[in-house]
Amino acid sequence: MTPRTAIQIAAGVRAGTLKAADVLEEHLARIDARESDVHAFNLVMTDQARAAAAAIDAAVAAGNDPGPLAGVPVALKDNMCTHGIPTTCSSKMLQGWKPPYDATAVIRLAAAGAVAVGKTNLDEFAMGSSTENSAFGPTRNPHDLSRVPGGSSGGSAAAVAAGFASVSLGSDTGGSIRQPAALCGVVGVKPTYGYVSRYGLVAFASSLDQIGPFTHTVEDSALLLDVIGGHDILDSTSIPARQPSLRDAIKQDVTGLRVGRITDLPEGADPDVAERLEAAFDALRAAGATIVDVQVPAFSYGLTAYYLIAPAEASSNLARYDGVRYGLRVNAADTNAMYGATRVAGFGEEVQRRIMLGTYALSAGYYDAYYGKALKVRRLIADDFDRAYQHADVLLTPTSPTVAFPFGSKSDNPFAMYLCDVYTIPTNLAGHPAMSVPFGTGAEGLPVGVQILAGTLGEPQMFRAAAALERAMGVSK
Ligand code: GLN
Repeated sequence: MTPRTAIQIAAGVRAGTLKAADVLEEHLARIDARESDVHAFNLVMTDQARAAAAAIDAAVAAGNDPGPLAGVPVALKDNMCTHGIPTTCSSKMLQGWKPPYDATAVIRLAAAGAVAVGKTNLDEFAMGSSTENSAFGPTRNPHDLSRVPGGSSGGSAAAVAAGFASVSLGSDTGGSIRQPAALCGVVGVKPTYGYVSRYGLVAFASSLDQIGPFTHTVEDSALLLDVIGGHDILDSTSIPARQPSLRDAIKQDVTGLRVGRITDLPEGADPDVAERLEAAFDALRAAGATIVDVQVPAFSYGLTAYYLIAPAEASSNLARYDGVRYGLRVNAADTNAMYGATRVAGFGEEVQRRIMLGTYALSAGYYDAYYGKALKVRRLIADDFDRAYQHADVLLTPTSPTVAFPFGSKSDNPFAMYLCDVYTIPTNLAGHPAMSVPFGTGAEGLPVGVQILAGTLGEPQMFRAAAALERAMGVSK
């Protein structure tokens, strides 16, 4: 069965031909049937969701319009603040903590009529690429329960792939929306830095973090970004200018669009993934785009620079979890001992590793050599991309070098895990948008995603290319 798209659900609910309550029950029934296997959620908000759906139906009955996402069931990554509802970041550290406010993206979804069904599992504090770093146990890939869904937004990707929610939100610091989208066979978008407000998103690396959607179709992602995007007075890094509607942008085909192939892209994609990328170039050429060769020499330094910059910011951001202000406290002889005992008990291994990496990179005597140098590399990467975008409107790469991998196959080797994001990380460092579009299957019949990259605020062109790939795959619209 092809699931209804968010656009179809909202249209039906607004017209009164579909009840938000019935749509919700269909999704709750799928959760009942498969959530114990998949474990996409840290919390299913059944009662709140039923109340919200009933309110939407009542509004329609009263002749009011609940908005462009009327009755659309949405899942939220559990690092987005929800007022009075536990927000855990899949960490023991936030045990018992309930945020006193909603994230801006959460408020905008609700204001557009969406129905929040639950908070989804993630790698602890969004650090990881498999969701195996959750303190509450991993999420499983709905396509093959012996494999990871990707990460860190693995729960959000799996929730959409399994039909538990029509759409979901994730966060992407180095690939955490795009990589799980690729591994779960759904669309995932990391917008331009500042496109979506980060207010109420628990910070990992503030200069890289962005919220974005997971959906079944490109148009649903366009709709979600049209709803959650835009300036927010509560996030000084959100972009003030109004952005053009992405739903309008995809009405235009790709005739004349210049699609770049990065000739010096780091090697390492599996042959099945590389084959799908070639097929994507062919599909765009057949749809009227021009393929051009470009170089992005600093692309290959992205991973190294990221593993200095992101941990440095994380070590600073995570200093706030001190046993005093949030969640867990482990009592000890004096205050310092209490800080230490709390942080050892509350943070998992990967989070502790990042804090140590970042603290080291920022420490006196090493700051210039590590953090300072990484910032210079970051500048080079952005400059190289900007030069490439003089010749191309969008670039195409694999999203992930591999299809979904079995549990445990990378968890003992942090570097192998970090390499999952070799193609996604450079765009976060540049602040540029990128998205993953499902483009067929590879080994074992598992989903493969193709990544489309664009320059700052290049979302309209990026979405046009995405829509063309989707049409080439025969996804109905
Ligand atoms: N996998 C990368 C990391 O572990 C990216 C995570 C993310 O985008 N949140 O840092």
